[in-house]
Amino acid sequence: MERCIFCRILARQTPAKIVFEDDSVFAVEDINPQSPVHLLVIPREHLVSLKDAAADREGLLGHLLAVAAKLARERRIESDGYRLVINTGALGGQSVFHLHVHVMGGRMFHWPPG
Ligand code: 5GP
Ligand code: ZN
Repeated sequence: MERCIFCRILARQTPAKIVFEDDSVFAVEDINPQSPVHLLVIPREHLVSLKDAAADREGLLGHLLAVAAKLARERRIESDGYRLVINTGALGGQSVFHLHVHVMGGRMFHWPPG
């Protein structure tokens, strides 16, 4: 099967806990959470990474962040603070090559990240 794991989740070919869906994005619980709240906000469209989306997808990118902020509010991590991460490319630590925003909260995050 050629489809990437997030496209397979969207097609309901791989199980995942989908916590949000609209016309252009969806969100799932990360399968290997690194914090008490760890969601992934993902465009329905298969865009490999931020570099593929930056030029002509400003609306979609803004929407990804708006949904991330909405989910952070709903999960009650907004007031204490949280972290959004977009790993991009090999040195950025990206492991699934379908653009996604990590929404992480419920613990202290350090800077700089590892
Ligand atoms: P990246 O390293 O590309 O920024 O993040 C990929 C994320 O996808 C990782 O946090 C990883 O745990 C998560 N992930 C990988 N495979 C699956 C899966 O099958 N289901 C879900 N829900 N998350 C996954
Ligand atoms: Zn995909």
